[in-house]
Amino acid sequence: MTPVNSTHPGRLRVQERFVSVQGEGALVGVPSSFVRVSGCNLRCAWCDSPQTSWAPVGSSAKVEELVRWALGGPRHVVVTGGEPLLFGAVAELVHQLRQRDHHVTVETAGSVWLDGLACDLVSISPKLAHSTPWQRDSTWAARHEARRHTPRTVRRLMDAFEWQLKFVVASDNDHQLERDLQEIEDYLGEIALTRAERWRVFLMPEGTDPQRLGRAYGKLAPLCQRTGFRLAPRLHIHAFGHRPGT
Ligand code: SF4
Repeated sequence: MTPVNSTHPGRLRVQERFVSVQGEGALVGVPSSFVRVSGCNLRCAWCDSPQTSWAPVGSSAKVEELVRWALGGPRHVVVTGGEPLLFGAVAELVHQLRQRDHHVTVETAGSVWLDGLACDLVSISPKLAHSTPWQRDSTWAARHEARRHTPRTVRRLMDAFEWQLKFVVASDNDHQLERDLQEIEDYLGEIALTRAERWRVFLMPEGTDPQRLGRAYGKLAPLCQRTGFRLAPRLHIHAFGHRPGT
């Protein structure tokens, strides 16, 4: 079982690192270096980076070496996973990059808090009920269900940093989509989101097939008009396909 808040001072298990453009969220299109750490406390049924969760792989890397690598690339850096907030060395990595005038986004499911973290943008993707892998692994489903709903931690992250919220929605199924939207509204009520903040909430369709995503955008756009949420395209899928290093 993946330990929560496990710490290896000065080192991180990295599944991949690469330079690309940010494909999702408010900084879409910005050239960025990506560091994808391996290890997650959740197991989403549809996880699109299972090499960091269901079957974690990766190589141990020193924070100093990751900093040196990132300094040779774009000013923007994205630390993603897996769940970066499980690892104390992530705070160290982000700190060192920001000391050198880099802009760092940390992508998280918002289910854990990391002491010592300070970042330029926290991209929080709380997991809705449809993410629980009941059909796949009952042990992990129970763990996932116990860990995924953490509105107080999400609110704490939002109060601490510049933020965006990304909800993955099941756009193939109209009935499920309406349930997702209601669950999101309930969630936003729990974190006391204001009307003025709703444009910072992204609806992102689940899936890694460009045609399926295209159909989803057409379905989600009117819902965004209705709710005030923001449509989240997945640019990297359309530009490069769903493959490593993008
Ligand atoms: S939180 Fe992210 S990395 Fe972890 S299982 Fe869910 S989608 Fe995969």
